[in-house]
Amino acid sequence: MAATPGDASDRAAQRPAPTPAPSEIWRRVLARLRRVVPGPSYDTWFATTHAIGMQGGVLQIGVVSDFVREALTAQYYPAISEALTSVVGRRLEFELVVRQVSEGAAPAQAMPAGPTAATPHTRPVLAKHYTFETFVVGRSNRLAHAAAVAVAEQPSQTYNPLFIYGGVGLGKTHLLQAIARVTGPRLRTIYVSAETYTNEFVTALREHSMEQFREKYRSVDVLLIDDIQFISRGEQTQEEFFHTFDALYTRNKQIVINSDVSPKLLSLLEERLRSRFEWGLIVDIAPPDVETRLAILRSKADRDGLRAPEEVLLLIAHRVQDNIRQLEGALNRIAALSRLQRQPITRELAAEALNAITSTPRTAVPMPSVILDAVAQVMNVPVEALTSKRREKQVAYARHLAMYLLRDIAQQSYAQIGRILGGRDHTTVLHGFRRIDELLETDPDVRRDLTEIRAAIAAR
Ligand code: ADP
Ligand code: MG
Repeated sequence: MAATPGDASDRAAQRPAPTPAPSEIWRRVLARLRRVVPGPSYDTWFATTHAIGMQGGVLQIGVVSDFVREALTAQYYPAISEALTSVVGRRLEFELVVRQVSEGAAPAQAMPAGPTAATPHTRPVLAKHYTFETFVVGRSNRLAHAAAVAVAEQPSQTYNPLFIYGGVGLGKTHLLQAIARVTGPRLRTIYVSAETYTNEFVTALREHSMEQFREKYRSVDVLLIDDIQFISRGEQTQEEFFHTFDALYTRNKQIVINSDVSPKLLSLLEERLRSRFEWGLIVDIAPPDVETRLAILRSKADRDGLRAPEEVLLLIAHRVQDNIRQLEGALNRIAALSRLQRQPITRELAAEALNAITSTPRTAVPMPSVILDAVAQVMNVPVEALTSKRREKQVAYARHLAMYLLRDIAQQSYAQIGRILGGRDHTTVLHGFRRIDELLETDPDVRRDLTEIRAAIAAR
């Protein structure tokens, strides 16, 4: 019987072609990626990867850190998949495994992922140091930490769902994985990124294995979803997640979700999903103050056995302000430079290492109008009200927030801010700025509002 072209290619796909060795596959994949990924990005993300081997038909790729794994997953998952398919001639699943090559360590402990843990993608590696013990508590993360501890100790009995949000690199994944470590040994626990969840769902659809998919996610005691903002916009995925959520919630199972924006601003999520998050507790993590930054640096230096003088730690804490991952990166860089030059860590050496990082142009300072728009949007007042004489509480408060942010982010003088806000006196502005600065110490609502406005500014 004559085969149609469609049949022929189907059969070609089924014919078991001799598969090259994993290292050879990966070498060819890298060669392809090098052509499409810009040089510096390629060097940063791919140069340190290597093939480990095949496990259950899944190609295992070693990466040097959780950070690289996250970045590759977030940015290059489709590119890697595509390159793999063209190299192997069929779809081949892969898994990124964190291996600290320099330490010669075995991959960090994998998660028990419930009874149907068959899909290797669902056993992400928990980073070794993401525990409550290593989490430094400060003003900016105290609430989130307390809530996470409560949930870990008494799942389903305190806050459910728990929703943690905050900017990039502020410890959200750290807290989620710390919970997983506590509940994992006793209870069926799944820690998964929303992106992986989406990918698995799509695979289950394609391979007609929805039964297993549902069974897996609906039979857990604790479900931890990282980076919910990456859940697919696809209606079907959201529908499925909605049902997973309800199935777990009605059976009193613990759900913890995190995101880099507040639920209110998660515009891609359906309203009914968003409102579900509000059933429980919503806490934010703000950028750390200088004491917390310093404490984190001390703790990391201790853990890494680094002899870094206090003045060096202070220098880093002052230079790197709003991202803990970068804070740690700066210390790593200084340590690397010290090893390379066989010099002790001194202030001079630290300054040299830091200059290379912090002299990179900062993201452009937002225009005052952008700040005003964001304040108006988040505080739900008309933008004209900010420059008007209106004195209602909500308007006055929003205006104070605007004063604070115009100073803090746009670095305007008090007099300039007064002009921007409809010709106000600079002492009025100073008063408004101080008022917010004080409230920040005591009022979590103010911190939350500021975080939301900052996120709205960043999103513009
Ligand atoms: P994200 O909020 O982007 O998920 P992560 O949880 O991955 O951020 O944190 C980034 C890095 O900063 C990790 O190495 C994490 O261990 C570290 N980190 C964040 N917050 C703290 C903290 N309070 N104490 C110690 N380390 C922290
Ligand atoms: Mg994270």
